[in-house]
Amino acid sequence: MQTKSKLLLFVALMLLGLGLATIVNVSLNFREYSIKDATQRATMAAAIVKDGLTAHMVNGIMDKRSYFLNQISSNNDKIKNLWIVRSDKVIKQYGKGFNSETVRDAIDEEVLKTGETVQKISESTENSMLRITIPYKATVANGPNCLSCHNVQRGDTLGAISMEFDITDMRNAGMFTILKILGINLLFIVIVLLLINHYVTPYMELFSNMQKGIRKAYKGDFSYEFTTKVKGDAKNIVDQLNTLFRKMQETFGDIKYNLATFIPQGCVSSSDPLHEAKTIIGELSDIYKFKKTIEHDLTKEIVYQRIIDVLSNKYKLSHFAFYEIDTLKATRKLIYISNGKSVCNDKVDEEASLCRAHRTNTAVISSEFVNLCRECSCEGLEYICIPFTINDENSLVISITTKEKNELNRVNSFIKSIENYLEAAKPVIESKILMSKLRDTSLRDAMTGLYNRRFLEEFIDTFANQAKRDNTTYSVLMLDVDFFKKVNDTYGHDVGDIVIAKIGEVLRSSIRESDLAIRYGGEEFVVLLHNATDEGTKMIASKIHSEFSKLIFDVGNGKTIQKTMSIGISKFPKDGDTIWKCIKYADTALYVAKTTGRNKIVEYKPEMSEDENLR
Ligand code: GH3
Ligand code: MG
Ligand code: MG
Repeated sequence: MQTKSKLLLFVALMLLGLGLATIVNVSLNFREYSIKDATQRATMAAAIVKDGLTAHMVNGIMDKRSYFLNQISSNNDKIKNLWIVRSDKVIKQYGKGFNSETVRDAIDEEVLKTGETVQKISESTENSMLRITIPYKATVANGPNCLSCHNVQRGDTLGAISMEFDITDMRNAGMFTILKILGINLLFIVIVLLLINHYVTPYMELFSNMQKGIRKAYKGDFSYEFTTKVKGDAKNIVDQLNTLFRKMQETFGDIKYNLATFIPQGCVSSSDPLHEAKTIIGELSDIYKFKKTIEHDLTKEIVYQRIIDVLSNKYKLSHFAFYEIDTLKATRKLIYISNGKSVCNDKVDEEASLCRAHRTNTAVISSEFVNLCRECSCEGLEYICIPFTINDENSLVISITTKEKNELNRVNSFIKSIENYLEAAKPVIESKILMSKLRDTSLRDAMTGLYNRRFLEEFIDTFANQAKRDNTTYSVLMLDVDFFKKVNDTYGHDVGDIVIAKIGEVLRSSIRESDLAIRYGGEEFVVLLHNATDEGTKMIASKIHSEFSKLIFDVGNGKTIQKTMSIGISKFPKDGDTIWKCIKYADTALYVAKTTGRNKIVEYKPEMSEDENLR
């Protein structure tokens, strides 16, 4: 039942109850009053009759008493019947009297016996009668001395006077009054209900309006527009609610939009933005923690193990295999399997392109087509294989198998989420692969321990691309020893080699782990300072420059020499959009240093390239 109907019903019942209570109270009082009134009149009539009869007796005209009694009853139209009865003692002394003076009923008998007045009301649908029977007692004082005529004791009941009064009019008047009260009550109830309805309906509409809006908001939809016809405070509340809902709608829209930039593939689909935001933030927080953890892991294998742990613990996968694919060799290696044997055919390991997920770079889901993957022994099993590309040379495939279709649907629902983890792990895995390659001795210069030119040629584009992606920079330093030929010529190649080896030490001690030092040629070196400020770059260049110039080389025969170097500096990507261009510009700056006196640091300026001699 609606709240308004409940309220109206409640008020109506209350008013009706109050009305009925009033009616009952009035009718009881009215009845009591009517009876009292009739009784008083009857008592008066009885007293008149008694006095009249006494007078008749005293005057010896008792035989005329019926005329007197008839007169009394005919003069009072309310008296329907009037009769007198004699007690046994009077009958014994004077006989039975007139016919009508014999005992008529039990009330007459009772009054004669007890000497007490009895009154009784008898009601029918047509009329209402009050019967009153009053005893007539033998007196001595204060009236005639009854004992002078009657052979009775003082106080004996001589007879009784009975009267029947018609009190129907009174009853009807009472009924009429009650009906009037009832009518007024009903009218009052109707008016009150109409007033309540008139004043309460707009509030009730507002109330149900609010209920609707809040119900929608509970599901995350804050688009509801509240309306009301009520003015004043209610209108203010509605306006404030609308403003609040608009703000919520905008805020959740913004949150959703911003979160979508963190998880572009979206791992949640819900019509409730609150729930969606909460889930995405939870997901982001998990992925953030995961990323922070793997960033400090030493090897790619440990990162793989972390992914496997997430699959087992977070997604509760009971059976899955984790493969690494060497794209260039087109081979596949099993990194992990939950238990038992892989469902994939063995030949896929030798020919990775047979793996449908890897080849199509799309998740393969068994429910999509009968025998979708032709290279697995998956009878009675459902499977989902998720491919993931790390870089041009490496990919991953996660193959999840299950016996239950429901479980397949469950796994299917969080493929995107798994991909988000892989996406987070991708740069870390990429850098681990790179780091393991960089440990390769063929990329190192034996004399200095620094990277060699081959390293620069193979990997510099990778570093440059990463820097572009991460919006970071490289400062390029090109170093060359001044008049180095003289060292060779004067003190021999061995001394020259010592000088070159010392440069390696100076460079290694001057740069950070994220920087790169490369022996570019004979006594020429390239240093790439990652994300260094202009000040930082100058500071490190100066440090290298001064540290080297402080070195004292023993050239034999108790003689020592000191050398200087010149340094050219350029910035990637400020000066050039590739590192190679920047190396060239650093070389141009170095040339300027050489031609303007050597033993100095020169920063590249675009004007230098305009000089024909420097190009
Ligand atoms: P500048 O100030 O103009 O640079 O004069 P420079 O004499 O240093 O000239 P340049 O840089 O062209 O000299 C490079 C010399 O370095 C030429 C070569 O003999 C010598 N060199 C190259 N590789 C090695 C090496 O591994 N060991 C030694 N000892 N010398 C090397
Ligand atoms: Mg030189
Ligand atoms: Mg040189």
